[in-house]
Amino acid sequence: MENWFKISRHVYFLGESKINDDRRVTVTSALPYIHGVPHLGNIVGSLLPADIYHRYLDIRGIDNIYICGSDVHGTPLELEALEQDMPVEKLAEQQDEKVKDVLDRMEMDFTFWGNTDSDYNRKQTHDMFEELYVNGYINEKEQNLPYCNNDERFLPDRYIEGECPHCGGLARGDQCDECGKLIEPEEIVEPECQICGGNDIEFKDTTHLYLDLPKFKAELEEWIENADPQPVPDSIINEVKNAIENTEQRCITRDINWGFEIPTERVNKRIEDEELEVEKIDEDRYEDKVLYVWFDAPIGYIGFTREYFAQQGNEEEWKDYWTDSDVHYSIGKDNTIFHTVIWPSMLKGSSTEEIDYEMPHYEFIQQYLLAEDTQFSKSRGTGLSTSDALDMYPADYWRFYLARKIPQDHDTKFSWEDFEAEINNVLNDTVGNFVNRTLSLAEQWFDNEVPVGDFENADEQALEEAGDAVENYVEAFEDHNLKKGLEHAIELARIGDRYLSEEEPWNNEDRRAETIHVSLQIIRSLGVTLYPFTPETTERIEDMLNADIHAS
Ligand SMILES: [Zn+2]
Ligand SMILES: [Zn+2]
Repeated sequence: MENWFKISRHVYFLGESKINDDRRVTVTSALPYIHGVPHLGNIVGSLLPADIYHRYLDIRGIDNIYICGSDVHGTPLELEALEQDMPVEKLAEQQDEKVKDVLDRMEMDFTFWGNTDSDYNRKQTHDMFEELYVNGYINEKEQNLPYCNNDERFLPDRYIEGECPHCGGLARGDQCDECGKLIEPEEIVEPECQICGGNDIEFKDTTHLYLDLPKFKAELEEWIENADPQPVPDSIINEVKNAIENTEQRCITRDINWGFEIPTERVNKRIEDEELEVEKIDEDRYEDKVLYVWFDAPIGYIGFTREYFAQQGNEEEWKDYWTDSDVHYSIGKDNTIFHTVIWPSMLKGSSTEEIDYEMPHYEFIQQYLLAEDTQFSKSRGTGLSTSDALDMYPADYWRFYLARKIPQDHDTKFSWEDFEAEINNVLNDTVGNFVNRTLSLAEQWFDNEVPVGDFENADEQALEEAGDAVENYVEAFEDHNLKKGLEHAIELARIGDRYLSEEEPWNNEDRRAETIHVSLQIIRSLGVTLYPFTPETTERIEDMLNADIHAS
């Protein structure tokens, strides 16, 4: 069939030959912290845009991986394990299963799903720590921190709670839950230890390691100014420049047990072997401390990639995806500083001659999706949970709606009214009716064969318009505008529907072959272009085309 698949010239699907595009792309999204299950705000804020982009690369035939996993270290999970009196590893495993299950139901197409407590991530974390240390990017500083005399241990982060000195609300560690102000632990009124519940707390000096971020300022400024494309959305660029300008040293260790040990021995051995002019780390001093969760969590992106390729039987291939690849991230705006200042600094500072880590090529940075009146929040339990949402409606409905609402430039409000309008009027009416109407006519008139006819101007024009829509779709994605990409996919249905209504093949028997042929082609492109957003709908369209409609 000469004209079959004519307008899908930029996309391929299931078995068609790939177009020539030798890019290699790594896609990741902020790793969900597994103290709780991602709510819809998390889905649209980080995971979904990455999944959409990864699926887009797939239909373009571009070599890519989508890497993600659970972020499991840190205080909240350790505290909960204490409360539940179970080993933290076990709690992490349970939570990981819950999170993964809900993301599977949401049709997230991960190439690999890991968790940050893995051996590969430990190896990668220690590799990067060692490079940062021997290159002089890690310093030691003293801190004065709360210490529980009863438990004989320090109380970092949320291990200490009390009254906020500003508003009287609940202050946890270094932040007030009510007013959101950052506070110093010393300022907390009537502090209480979260392990024993007591208040025999004193402040003691303790030594910690700091990442010397100001040393990367010049390199980061050069990156954010000159990288092509600009690596973050316009709406956030000034905030990023300010963050780089005002960067400070960051503490990367904690006085807790749950996390990766600090590789003091191995670093000191390297210093000795290579006779480096760096001071060794005091091994005793760091024996009971671990690397802070925020140090090893982003390293998980690379650690998981290593694990994935190792499982594929190749211990080296991960390097291709981190040294010669366009690395894309999808994160919520509350993660901006970590991904535009801290993580890029870690990448720069741990690069070697052999492994020169790629700086972020592009970061999808989403604003917030707000529940009807308030922000979705995992810790406060507001908003609709993802599993409740999936109990009510299929994943495609949520993916479609959320993709329409991706808060690309500003906070966006979720409302049921809006949800119903998008699903009923756009997905079901515009897209669904055009597909169903065409397919039932094809069955009725042509017994599910693809008919051949002599094209008139109107037919050529409809194909032309559809071809343009596909081209605009590709352009929107290349511009990292996912919402606009979806708009162009929907446009295909509008073009097809208008064309059918204007040509009225039901009143005009001579025109039936051409109009059905053209409409089927448009449906096929529609199915392909919807794939990143609504994979199950695409599969249904594919099934209908392959099973019931075949080229004659
Ligand atoms: Zn407060
Ligand atoms: Zn205590």
